[in-house]
Amino acid sequence: MESGLVFDIKKYAIHDGPGIRTTLFLKGCPLACRWCHNPEGIPAGPAMLHRPARCIGCGACEAACPSQAIGTGGATGSADPQRCTGCGRCADLCPTLARERVGRSMTVAQAMAEICRDIPFYDRSGGGVTFSGGEPLAQPAFLMALLDACGRQEIHRTIDTSGYAPTAVIMAAAQRAELFLFDLKHMNPQRHRDLTGVDNALIHENLRRLAAAGIRLALRLPLVPGINDDPENLAATGRFAAGLPGVCALHLLPYHSAARGKYRLWGRTEPLAASPPQPPDTEGLLAAADRLRHFGLNVVIGG
Ligand code: SF4
Ligand code: SF4
Repeated sequence: MESGLVFDIKKYAIHDGPGIRTTLFLKGCPLACRWCHNPEGIPAGPAMLHRPARCIGCGACEAACPSQAIGTGGATGSADPQRCTGCGRCADLCPTLARERVGRSMTVAQAMAEICRDIPFYDRSGGGVTFSGGEPLAQPAFLMALLDACGRQEIHRTIDTSGYAPTAVIMAAAQRAELFLFDLKHMNPQRHRDLTGVDNALIHENLRRLAAAGIRLALRLPLVPGINDDPENLAATGRFAAGLPGVCALHLLPYHSAARGKYRLWGRTEPLAASPPQPPDTEGLLAAADRLRHFGLNVVIGG
């Protein structure tokens, strides 16, 4: 039985595709977007969070840690990332739930039990399941098995992806899904590398291939002021998106700062900490939407 690492399951999701959905967040992502709102999902292995406000200083975690990762330079009580293996013993023993292991192994059967519980909601709302992350295509065997299992139950399948995956993997997933939510983060290759850690050539090639294959696509642009909301990038995004068949919408996702607290709990420095962007204001959002509509796109603000 195939298994994989899942770091969250969101029930009754209404912004991850049509209708009421269950969204599974799969661990691991080959990108590291500077504005990522799920940074704890980026490492392929578990991430350990620490909530200092809940800690009563009992010392159980430090005593239990086989790697001496606690109290050895893990300032503010976070596990030292150089030593921590993510075994989770500290979280299992913590009496106040101050420590949390983000990422749990699930079999396909366990994941399907969660997914199938809400079939009545999917049926009534035209919803289904969305595979997100992290990057769901980074666990291809687990994802394909889940897609096949959902297909046997006639559950609508959506994949929320950065598009950065081997073309063979994304095309195999495309044969098993009804909709792709596909991110476009920045059109300039060098800026894309600076902001995410990877080139955008493979992403664009994969998107062209999906479009040419007639796959239904909802593009998503995370709008981060001062990063990718300039007229040049919006025009390049609009031109590219308008040239693709099968694009049903382009969603503008306003940047928000909710990840700031996650970085603190994780004991990591937020990449944009030196000059944190502000969420876009209504005027900026509407202006960006107008620029994109100029290319004949169905632009939607929000998920
Ligand atoms: S997860 Fe394991 S290795 Fe990491 S701090 Fe906790 S006990 Fe130590
Ligand atoms: S086990 Fe929990 S409460 Fe005790 S010291 Fe560690 S984090 Fe704090």
